[in-house]
Amino acid sequence: MFKHELRFGPAGMPIGCKGKTLVEGIEYVSKEGLNAFEVEFVRGVRIKKEIAIEARKISEEKNVLLSCHGPYYINCCSPLKEKQNITMRNILQTAEAAALLGAYTIVFHPGYYQKQTPEKAFDNALEILKEALRKMKEKKIKNVFLGLETVGKKSQFGGLDENIELCKKLGLQNARVVVDFAHILARGDIILKTKEDYEEIFSRLRKGLGAEVLKQLHCHFSGIVFSEKGERHHVPIGNIPPFKPLAELISEKKYNLTIISESPFLDRDALKMKRIVEGI
Ligand SMILES: [Zn+2]
Repeated sequence: MFKHELRFGPAGMPIGCKGKTLVEGIEYVSKEGLNAFEVEFVRGVRIKKEIAIEARKISEEKNVLLSCHGPYYINCCSPLKEKQNITMRNILQTAEAAALLGAYTIVFHPGYYQKQTPEKAFDNALEILKEALRKMKEKKIKNVFLGLETVGKKSQFGGLDENIELCKKLGLQNARVVVDFAHILARGDIILKTKEDYEEIFSRLRKGLGAEVLKQLHCHFSGIVFSEKGERHHVPIGNIPPFKPLAELISEKKYNLTIISESPFLDRDALKMKRIVEGI
């Protein structure tokens, strides 16, 4: 069992790391003073069993908490059988890899509305995810949460409130909301400027799911460029959204978040955020 604490880490291989392997990446992150690492499977799940086992050993030794980002091909809302099969396969493959790695959560964007009502998209997602949980149980995959990431585009299903509702239906022992702050801002869900704006997110989570969700809440942070339609792309940490008010809140309320830097500066920006919190 990992230690509940405030954690920072990169989404994928740290930029200064000369080594190419996952084990070297985890060691590098630890040496930098970080304690989380998101393994990126965004273009498909590929990892050898021996490598996953070795990575797990190192991550436990160094107290680097792992998580796995699932492929972009996941769309839990699609009414099409073929798309549902692709979604199921990708969720299960990510969960299997996570179980081998000892990662506490997988992370994925729940889906797209396409031409459906939000209610229909919700029902479809719930069905697929229940089925995924049944299959995970069959495969004896334990201690891996389905992490429903808050999405950044208005065409995507998976706003903060939708993910809270989905999580409630799936059960906290199975699913968690992954808070991507930049996405919440870009989608227009909550304007993030002040400490109170950030607290609104935690307060909705607490109200919807109970204080338990804040125990080691998995989060993404980066700067973001967006339009009317929502997210365009991630940029280095700056003022949109501002990290400082969140840092103040973390230090005031002692929130044990896992903050994964999805900025192009990955570990460098993870360290920057860590120092901002430490400097308060
Ligand atoms: Zn994200």
